[in-house]
Amino acid sequence: MLGNVRIVLVGTSHPGNIGAAARAMMNMGLSDLSLVQPEAFPHPKATARASGAVGILENATCHDSLADAISGCTRVYGTSARHRSLAWPEVSARECGIEIAGEWRDEPCAIVFGRERTGLTNAELDLCHVMLHIPCNPAFSSLNIAAAVQVIAYELRMADVENKRDLAAVDDQFREDLATRDDMDQFHTHLTSVITQTGFYDPNNPKQLSRRLYRFFNRAAPDKTEINIMRGILKSVEKTIKNK
Ligand code: SAH
Repeated sequence: MLGNVRIVLVGTSHPGNIGAAARAMMNMGLSDLSLVQPEAFPHPKATARASGAVGILENATCHDSLADAISGCTRVYGTSARHRSLAWPEVSARECGIEIAGEWRDEPCAIVFGRERTGLTNAELDLCHVMLHIPCNPAFSSLNIAAAVQVIAYELRMADVENKRDLAAVDDQFREDLATRDDMDQFHTHLTSVITQTGFYDPNNPKQLSRRLYRFFNRAAPDKTEINIMRGILKSVEKTIKNK
């Protein structure tokens, strides 16, 4: 999904910011950078600030207009440090990550950043489907452009990770070797026996321990192999107790 996201910087005046943005992108696994009329590019300051991310600068494309830079994209986010008088539909950086990792995951998306001094024009925002605002201190809401790229790239990465975890969780439902209720009960009986022998658990004063342990292992949803490992650990504890 990260490969479908293009970062577009419009009219950047400081080449160092372009390099820092490229670095932020590579740190988070993004690689597609487009520049619209940068004031100075390529530039040694951009290369220096990119650190090891020079490959992104070398592959960056330059465009005369924003329309050209986003022509193939089906979902375009325009970033803004301030709310505009005419309200655009607006998402936060987190919501943007969740959307792109979810419903827009297979679509070519672009996130557009404005000029250091003046941001994006309203005409440029007209080309964007949604406005993206990073919620911050309302009295000081303008981030350095590379810092803004960093925050959004991080949210994209985290949303991608979460999404993969969710997909894995769905797969889990189809695992055939999950521990059965029986396996769990036998394990629980075994565990209770061992912690009684060690003195950790007093059957005459059980409090909530048993229920808590049940809840804990149910939440883990172990498979048969994992339960066998737990049983093996319990056996080794029993052996140690007997040999004492
Ligand atoms: N004075 C300008 C500030 C531009 S900051 C203005 O009011 O628009 C340069 C760029 O960094 C912005 O165009 C935007 O792309 C990004 N940026 C800075 N702060 C941001 C924030 N809080 N949310 C989203 N993008 C932000």
